[in-house]
Amino acid sequence: MHLKIAVLPGDYIGPEVMAAALPVLEAVLKKSGHTLEHSTHDVGGAGIDNHGKALPDSTLEACRAADAILFGSVGGPKWEKLPPAEQPERASLLPLRKHFTLYANVRPGLLLKNLIDTSPIRPDRIPNGVDMVCIRELTGGLYFGPKSTTTLADGDIEAIDTMVYRKSEIERITDVAIATARGRRKHITLVDKANVLQTSVLWRKVVADRLKATAPDITLAVMYIDNAAMQLVLKPSQFDVLLTENMFGDILSDEMAVICGSLGMMASASLGLNRNRHGYGYGLFEPSGGTAPDIAGQDKANPCAQILSVALMLRHSFGLETEAKSIEAAVEKTIAEGIRTADIAAGGKAVGTKAMGAAILARL
Ligand code: NAD
Repeated sequence: MHLKIAVLPGDYIGPEVMAAALPVLEAVLKKSGHTLEHSTHDVGGAGIDNHGKALPDSTLEACRAADAILFGSVGGPKWEKLPPAEQPERASLLPLRKHFTLYANVRPGLLLKNLIDTSPIRPDRIPNGVDMVCIRELTGGLYFGPKSTTTLADGDIEAIDTMVYRKSEIERITDVAIATARGRRKHITLVDKANVLQTSVLWRKVVADRLKATAPDITLAVMYIDNAAMQLVLKPSQFDVLLTENMFGDILSDEMAVICGSLGMMASASLGLNRNRHGYGYGLFEPSGGTAPDIAGQDKANPCAQILSVALMLRHSFGLETEAKSIEAAVEKTIAEGIRTADIAAGGKAVGTKAMGAAILARL
């Protein structure tokens, strides 16, 4: 297979962690006989500095021509004084998601057994670490429904956000959850608020019908959002695939991230309607964290999230499961051997970004 990737490193630690991830991508493909064509493009603050806008036309064009986007992260203090609509994240990442209809956010929550000390959860509650995936609907719900702010006749002010979901939107995200569960423990937990929200009632029916019709091999549990927030902390091991709507997913996926230790370990995939030349889902793959300006330029950033984003890209956009697993295994092995960046060293000896990347590469 010939893989064509648009590489968008972005700002601050973005280029540092990307520099550690690309050799891993190149090595794993070389080993398995696939060929790689990748080109690097400015985005975010780098786009503003070099082209006058956060998502330069040439970058968008390169993304259109590619099979997948490997993204770093964007933004930082340098561009904070720009009008909100021109700031790097708002003016590059959100338009990219919108342009490619990236409606499914897939965020693995993996706390390796060897990293239990980095979690705020008591070790006796997570003896085997945490291994779950949050599937969040990304282009519907409260964030995208009709909004208004109105001054009423009596002088009071009323603001309205509307939560809207269509059956078809729920079906397509359920299909992503089913595909994810099939490669795992085959269990989906749907998180909603079906005791008060009409949209949640629809979610419950559509998800249950979809599973019955297309995935009888997958088991389904349902849980109210308030209970789910509690259960995540009490017993994260009960979750395999957590499926939920946009706002609930926004909140729960961050709770999941903190349970799993460091942002530097968390990769994410945003998948959409489009298929690439190989017939797999076109997607954008990125670390869950931001540009970490506090540690940028010091060789301190953890490159694991970016490297694990490469694994997600190979799995979802190219169907290269074996290659994805070999990257994940190399990360796990490196950490098990005690090689760690400062964020996951729990006060112990730490290595830099470059050394961590090289150690993972050596263990592929
Ligand atoms: P952040 O995620 O950049 O940093 C939060 C904390 O996590 C910091 O202490 C940082 O050092 C640490 N951290 C993050 N990634 C790390 C890594 N790989 N290794 C080690 N430690 C890591 O969040 P922030 O400070 O709120 O945001 C900084 C900038 O990033 C802002 O401009 C924000 O808008 C932007 N941002 C971008 C994205 C994106 O591009 N998708 C996402 C979130 C934030």
